[in-house]
Amino acid sequence: MARMTVAGGGLAGCEAAWQLAERGHEVTLIEMRPVRATPAHQTDRLAELVCTNSFKSTDPTNAHGLLKTEMRSLGSLLLAAAEEARVPAGAALAVDRDVFSARMTAVVAAHPRITLERREVTGLPGGPAVMATGPLTSAALTSAIAELLGDDGLAFYDSIAPIVSFESIDLDVAYFLSRYGKGDGDDYLNCPLDREQYGAFLAALREADVYPGHDWENLPIGRVVEGEGSVRADRGGDIPFFEGCLPIEVMAARGDDTLRFGPMKPVGLRDPKTGREPYAVLQLRREDRAGQMWNLVGFQTRLRTGEQRRVFRMIPGLEEAEFLRYGSIHRNTYLNFPARLNAYGAPPARPGLIFAGQLTGVEGYTESAASGILAGVNLDRIARGEEPVLPPSTTMLGGLYRYLREADPDRFAPMNSNFGLLDPLNERVRDKRRKRERLAERARESLAAWMREHRIEAVEVGEGVAA
Ligand SMILES: Cc1cc2nc3c(=O)[nH]c(=O)nc-3n(C[C@H](O)[C@H](O)[C@H](O)COP(=O)(O)OP(=O)(O)OC[C@H]3O[C@@H](n4cnc5c(N)ncnc54)[C@H](O)[C@@H]3O)c2cc1C
Repeated sequence: MARMTVAGGGLAGCEAAWQLAERGHEVTLIEMRPVRATPAHQTDRLAELVCTNSFKSTDPTNAHGLLKTEMRSLGSLLLAAAEEARVPAGAALAVDRDVFSARMTAVVAAHPRITLERREVTGLPGGPAVMATGPLTSAALTSAIAELLGDDGLAFYDSIAPIVSFESIDLDVAYFLSRYGKGDGDDYLNCPLDREQYGAFLAALREADVYPGHDWENLPIGRVVEGEGSVRADRGGDIPFFEGCLPIEVMAARGDDTLRFGPMKPVGLRDPKTGREPYAVLQLRREDRAGQMWNLVGFQTRLRTGEQRRVFRMIPGLEEAEFLRYGSIHRNTYLNFPARLNAYGAPPARPGLIFAGQLTGVEGYTESAASGILAGVNLDRIARGEEPVLPPSTTMLGGLYRYLREADPDRFAPMNSNFGLLDPLNERVRDKRRKRERLAERARESLAAWMREHRIEAVEVGEGVAA
């Protein structure tokens, strides 16, 4: 079997290395800590959790729970180690972070086919490799990736507007219309606000609680580079906020009319019910072909998630909004997947160089780990002379990858797992719980069928992980 490189010993890198090693390959896993630090990691352990200790729900009728079910079907080292490190947290899978990363480190390092090297990867490996260096990829490697993919192939901050589900928008209030009737009729949904509603919304937005960000996230990128070598130095400037994508709450603070003349501009959006232009408008843009996910245009924000629910639900038509993705603004190095990578995450010129984890534009611990599993499965297939494959978009993992390849490259932003990513059911199921159960059932069946069709076996994790 071929020798393969995995760059980055985080969540995605550990899963990818394990998949490859268990499928018979000799793997060199290269982690730069402790030789070189990142601004967020605190230890030299593999799979260190940089923030919360929760992997979220395990209930398969929850989007995160469903993704875990799929990861288990393929064999997930992370989930096996998390079970061992589990602490009580209701339906969520939360872990003692030290026990968890110590276990991951011990098990990965002890695998007879994995060689762990502690050094910084500064260029792209020549042979087959998985690149999983995460949102804090070091400066030298970031430059090498930019050279391969082109300057506009990489982003250094995410600036994310919330997404809500179509079925949760009140269509008695919101109306379909593109500004001045341009474009296709159903590209945009508009939530109209009168003067009073706008005033109340503005007041709530100005008082809402904001996530302050980590100190290092608020530094201009040039200074971060000096301190930690984490981001390219030639991107200095007044980070974190670019003028073109200011947080909605920062715009609100600038003046009473800033939003009304900016992202909430009502011109050309006459409400068919009144025949008049509203005082202000929130526009929602379709995010997927099936029209299940709708993006609050221009509403990138650092409001805490509870505050996003409270304040954005004040907008007429969104009173019952179900948030599939919350808004956020983070330091985050990620690639423009739809513009620069093929369907399974490799640059077309380098089919054996597969990107995985948060670098690809998936968002979150489990999403990153799941993408590491898929990268391992596909690099193994390439080594065997087989075509890489992707799970169908009736599965959470398949839905995530469909988003990555089909998203609009001009405004590509990271995505977490949610039910809006899956193909809609053929039948109409009114009860929400029943609908989720049906989606989860279908996902399980279609993943199993896909694995059978492509002769993909789950790798062993139980024995290896047990102490
Ligand atoms: C501050 C912060 C807080 C976050 N909080 C959360 C949260 O609460 N919940 C959540 O779900 N997600 C959170 N995320 C996102 C989180 O980083 C990802 O979900 C997840 O860790 C990504 O996994 P990964 O394997 O892609 O990257 P990582 O887990 O970051 O792993 C990448 C690894 O590559 C190493 N590396 C980097 N460059 C090189 C190089 N050149 N050579 C060798 N090794 C290298 C790094 O040291 C690291 O160990 C947070 C991210 C950050 C930055």
